Amino acid sequence: FVEVREGSARILVPKAERIYDAPVFYNPVMALNRDVSVLAVSVIKPERVLDALSATGIRGIRYALETPAGEVWLNDISEDAFRLILKNARRNLGVEGEMLGERRFVFRGEKTVVANHDDANRLMAEKFRYFDFLDLDPFGSPVEFLDTALRSVKRRGVLAVTATDTGVLCGAYRQACRRKYLAEPIRGELCHEAGLRILIGTVVRYAAKYDLGVEVLLAYYRDHYFRAFLRLRSGAKKADRSVSMLGYLMQEASGRFEYETGFLPERVPSHGPLWLGPLKEQEFVEEMLTLTKEKALAHKKTLSFLETLAEELDLPFHYDTHALARRNGLQVGKLADVIDALRETGYRATRTHFSPTAIKTDAPFDAVIEAIKSLK
Ligand code: SAM
Repeated sequence: FVEVREGSARILVPKAERIYDAPVFYNPVMALNRDVSVLAVSVIKPERVLDALSATGIRGIRYALETPAGEVWLNDISEDAFRLILKNARRNLGVEGEMLGERRFVFRGEKTVVANHDDANRLMAEKFRYFDFLDLDPFGSPVEFLDTALRSVKRRGVLAVTATDTGVLCGAYRQACRRKYLAEPIRGELCHEAGLRILIGTVVRYAAKYDLGVEVLLAYYRDHYFRAFLRLRSGAKKADRSVSMLGYLMQEASGRFEYETGFLPERVPSHGPLWLGPLKEQEFVEEMLTLTKEKALAHKKTLSFLETLAEELDLPFHYDTHALARRNGLQVGKLADVIDALRETGYRATRTHFSPTAIKTDAPFDAVIEAIKSLK
């Protein structure tokens, strides 16, 4: 093992040449995901938190050390992971604990921390409507955990999901996307935003059958994964409202796109179903940003990334200036100049975290093309 520091935690992680060869998984790149999650949990202030797929325990241990959560559960199906979780929890919490049955160990200190060795689906089925914040951070897709997670989280709780199967959600493996998400993905420059929206749309459909609505507190794409913090709302009307924000995306060869809400696609080819609602609550992101001043962030890019998210215009889809130039045989100017040109004509336009060469704008396609042309 080697010791690593991340945020307020110091944890042991297995020494390995490549992260996927290690007996227990730890990816330092995901420190940004965990920083953002610590900030989100600090704003949400849940009492009971579950890190359902915990590996080394780092995520849940950071929730215990760095957020107001009072009771944090760390679970993993792997025996090696469970042993490491116990070690890491002991080191960081500085208290001893006791076994409760064969698969559960409880630390009672300032906070209650429970290490659990089980299939996440079994634990979540046991803990019905128990958690205020439930985090799914799987290898690949979270879909196999969604049903039990939606039953285990309280009806006004928050579900956080990570998906690392970007190839599937971005259309590289179209059949896999149909199979796992019952959705038609899109390839090309909109694939990441569409993939994120397919993921959220899937949670909306899973939640709807339990008469749960979904509000997006924050959702983003980064480093080949998707992440979404989703606030649940109880009631059939809330579920209907969320379902009414699903729809489809259409894109032409020029890069012009359109989207429309609706249960079924009206045109062919359409991509979706996908979420067409907001990807953030501005106040939520701003509260997270304020908290960055008092939290020990582990990743050097967390702050600038959150600033980008806070400034970004929250409209469905974006224009990638490089892709538009390529598709239409244009010269491409500086992104900042395209943004200025659009703003001068009275439109709103910002950068977007989805791509360093793309903009979000309320300008129509033709105005974007004109703005690119005007820079030559
Ligand atoms: N959350 C961790 C972090 O932030 O470092 C990383 C989790 S890792 C991507 C996924 C973990 O899920 C692995 O440790 C694996 O053993 C565990 N896992 C896979 N299937 C599981 C299941 N059905 N129930 C519980 N844990 C499972």
